[in-house]
Amino acid sequence: MKNNELNQRRLQATPRGIGVMCGFYAEKAENATLWDVEGNEVIDFAAGIAVLNTGHRHPKVMAAVEKQLQAFTHTAYQIVPYESYVSLAERINERVPVAGPAKTAFFSTGAEAVENAVKIARAYTKRPGIITFGGGFHGRTFMTMALTGKVAPYKIGFGPFPGSIYHAQYPNALHGVSTEEALKSLERIFKADIAPDQVAAILLEPVQGEGGFNVAPDDFMQALRKLCDSHGILLIVDEVQSGFARTGKLFASEYYDVKPDLITMAKSLAGGLPLSAVAGRAEVMDAPAPGGLGGTYAGNPLAIAAAHAVLDVIEEENLCERANHLGQHLVEVLNRAKAQCPYIADIRAQGSMVAVEFTDPQTGAPSAEFTKQVQEKALADGLLLLSCGVYGNVIRFLYPLTIPEVQFRKALDIISQSLTH
Ligand code: PMP
Repeated sequence: MKNNELNQRRLQATPRGIGVMCGFYAEKAENATLWDVEGNEVIDFAAGIAVLNTGHRHPKVMAAVEKQLQAFTHTAYQIVPYESYVSLAERINERVPVAGPAKTAFFSTGAEAVENAVKIARAYTKRPGIITFGGGFHGRTFMTMALTGKVAPYKIGFGPFPGSIYHAQYPNALHGVSTEEALKSLERIFKADIAPDQVAAILLEPVQGEGGFNVAPDDFMQALRKLCDSHGILLIVDEVQSGFARTGKLFASEYYDVKPDLITMAKSLAGGLPLSAVAGRAEVMDAPAPGGLGGTYAGNPLAIAAAHAVLDVIEEENLCERANHLGQHLVEVLNRAKAQCPYIADIRAQGSMVAVEFTDPQTGAPSAEFTKQVQEKALADGLLLLSCGVYGNVIRFLYPLTIPEVQFRKALDIISQSLTH
């Protein structure tokens, strides 16, 4: 079966609303390499949109899933529970940077985790309001679409959306938003839209993923925590993209001297199987009444088995350290390219959550065109890169943290060539 033929069939059989980036179809994948149905090979720096921090088909993850396949694949945890769910919750509770004892509930997708974090926050505070941020991304369900701070393409034609959601500004030095201005935008919401005593939670990504790998400044996180404490508001951090060693720590929140009340996670939690979670302060997590949380597939046994193996691999292979090591190398390459590439406006990194932002050197405007050119050039040379950013003018790098050193160096050469030729 050839790529062209499959493309024709795709256009006939599936709606255009599911926008597909690549014109080639996956045949098999191993660690950081992906082969298409025509036998072409690419180095995969997309990693299933940040899902494969432990690489495609990590042998330990595969072995854990295969073992679980031989036992049972589904009972519905709310009907017949299993130990692996409880022990995974115990492991996550030990590691989440929240104050005091923690509890964890499992779901399947990132959006579902965020939905449930909102349910838990509302049940605990008995308040309706949720404040999120421009440029944030939280999912494609109705609540998470409403929480998302980017209109195109996520919200177009899908309204009306759930209410009691307000967007503040996320600090972004490059785009002229200081911490002070971001905090002022919150004050404006409290004056113009909703009283703080009606707000259940402030929800943010500590590093915005889809929004461009923007890192929340420390003083901003501290101010948010203070604001939350003074008004009885919960602080929820969405670590769906930033979690599980990507930033050089298990959770990006660990970089801050601030403890959130709830943390959402998904993607690299289960190394390619669908699993998400909400973890948080036990008292808050226990607010919803029995039966209020769950789902038929929530905490699927195969995905739970994979997640246990992922946590083992992150530890055994020192993936937090490796994230820092690889991220540093990449940043060096980007910095060197900057001298020859006037489009590079900013290079941002926290561990291996690395991004490069492009603006037109003549006008200073965000350049989605140059971004696309870099992506196309890299792909022609065998490297799959993802873009992001509110203006589509950022390349983000999401390689498996398990990528062999030689292959990583090859990818760095391709990146360098794509930026400077
Ligand atoms: N939150 C963040 C920070 C994300 O990056 C994403 C996915 N890109 C989501 C939530 C939604 O996750 P899912 O697509 O699994 O629903």
